[in-house]
Amino acid sequence: MARYTEAVCRLCRREGQKLFLKGDRCYTDKCAFGRRAYAPGAHGQGRSKVTEYGTQLREKQKAKRYYGLLEKQFRGYFELASRMKGQTGENLLSLCESRLDNAIYRLGFAMSRPEARQLVTHGHFEVNGRKVNIPSFLVKPGMVITLRDKSRSLEKFKGSLEANASRPAPKWLEFDREKYAAKVLGIPQKEDIDLPIEEHLIVELYSK
Ligand code: SF4
Repeated sequence: MARYTEAVCRLCRREGQKLFLKGDRCYTDKCAFGRRAYAPGAHGQGRSKVTEYGTQLREKQKAKRYYGLLEKQFRGYFELASRMKGQTGENLLSLCESRLDNAIYRLGFAMSRPEARQLVTHGHFEVNGRKVNIPSFLVKPGMVITLRDKSRSLEKFKGSLEANASRPAPKWLEFDREKYAAKVLGIPQKEDIDLPIEEHLIVELYSK
């Protein structure tokens, strides 16, 4: 299972905005983007003309990085989205949003998507009563995501749920905090996704 393993703060600086990839640290003055809000590298502070292609490319890279995806995976979601009914761009975001690691992050079990991915890989969650340790597993309406019994006593989960109490679960997930269980109510819609992604630019890029 391939994943990006370099310094992630560089990604925020490259995209010119916070991607919140490091959990707590992103909200402190240790945030690298807060200190150096320009692209990494020797020419990071130089001004360059952004072409139409460059704008589309950056939007695609930003979306990939929010969800922690490599090009092949993201392109695969695009191909799948283009075969689905409806708007390809919205389908693409909906597929990314339906990943199990993203759902775990949205529920507040983790402070960041990379952390959620790790927690899934370590086998802390079940879907419909069966252990699932595949971060890319796509959850579907009617499925129930649960923190496994043996993981419920871990301070980590209590701490994360408390810290994220002010971040409500999205409308497509019905979360019962007492039972550490969430039911998938529907397919994530564009309005449920609070990320600043202009998906039409990604569609334009891949359609060239
Ligand atoms: Fe991005 Fe978080 Fe690093 Fe700040 S601390 S640059 S938001 S990953």
